[in-house]
Amino acid sequence: MSSRIQFLILSILFLCLSSPGYAAVEIAWSGQKPKLINEVYNRDGVAYLAIDDVMRALRLKGRWYSVDHRYRFRTPMGKASLFPGGAYLRVGDQFIPLDHPPRFIDGRLRVPEDFVLVQLPALTGNSVYYRNLNPVGEVKSPGDESALDQLFAFLLRKKNRQEVSHLRAIAIDVGHGGSDSGVIGLTGVKEKDVVLEFAGQLEKLIKMRLGIPVYLSRDGDYTLDRKHRLQAVSKPDVDAYLILHAQGHFTPAAHGVELYVRPVAATADDRLRAGDVDDSTRLALDARQALLDEGFTVAEVHSANLLPLGRGDLPTVMIELGYLSNADDLALLKDGEARQMLAEAIFDGLKKYDDDTRSKK
Ligand SMILES: [Zn+2]
Repeated sequence: MSSRIQFLILSILFLCLSSPGYAAVEIAWSGQKPKLINEVYNRDGVAYLAIDDVMRALRLKGRWYSVDHRYRFRTPMGKASLFPGGAYLRVGDQFIPLDHPPRFIDGRLRVPEDFVLVQLPALTGNSVYYRNLNPVGEVKSPGDESALDQLFAFLLRKKNRQEVSHLRAIAIDVGHGGSDSGVIGLTGVKEKDVVLEFAGQLEKLIKMRLGIPVYLSRDGDYTLDRKHRLQAVSKPDVDAYLILHAQGHFTPAAHGVELYVRPVAATADDRLRAGDVDDSTRLALDARQALLDEGFTVAEVHSANLLPLGRGDLPTVMIELGYLSNADDLALLKDGEARQMLAEAIFDGLKKYDDDTRSKK
């Protein structure tokens, strides 16, 4: 462990000291002769290497499966897989967050250098010699060490917990349905289907881990009128309300999760003082932080006039899960495992909100 950290620090030193000149990196298992990879792309200050080149240089076996759009490789910890746009690396039944998603650049699947510096050493138990001969953009900070700590913390955190909830029940509005498809994304994916799949995953997590009822506005593909849509949220034991949508944009670059709450004035209660945030905002901020912690892109919390609801004081957050007009978001939202990560993150936010609510009382 300590030699691994030493090695990371060495690698970071190399990143700092090496001077520009080549768009290339040197890579090897520690103690072996480095191989040169000279097809390196920089995106947003991060070096991306073709995963095939990395595997070849380190003599690991892996290949791209075009059927399910996934790259699989073997590690001592088990079979691992990743996919373009994915926020995590899957190993067995573990999900390991990636700081930067793998992406297709110039026709090849590429992984960020932190995959080589952090994830591969952790998966193989070996140190990697890595030297970027032409670091572009910001130099990596000693954050790499804490990324390693985060990785292990994450693996430990997967040990489960069933706790008593302060929240009595959650209502989830599953956007659109039936004749109302919502946004139609790239490749014809429909918002109504994506949000239904996601709602089912989030529902399971809440039921399993908090042991409380979850009321969905719909659990299949059918049209809802306003009255029926609000039935779920009108149950007396509902303590939080999540409204699920996905969006589209004419700019393919628009991406990420967005969270909306009603303007505070519309829900304000006399007990609110300057600097206080209302419960909806607190829930949205907790969800946002949990999403950021898991490596998802999330905008600042917005305020908007959400659909008029029966109970104005009910903590309510509308979640736009992503842009179906963006290839990365679409890949994430279409993938059951990636959606699960998203659901886990939003659950973590809800859990944090629940815990803080409890400790306030
Ligand atoms: Zn919608």
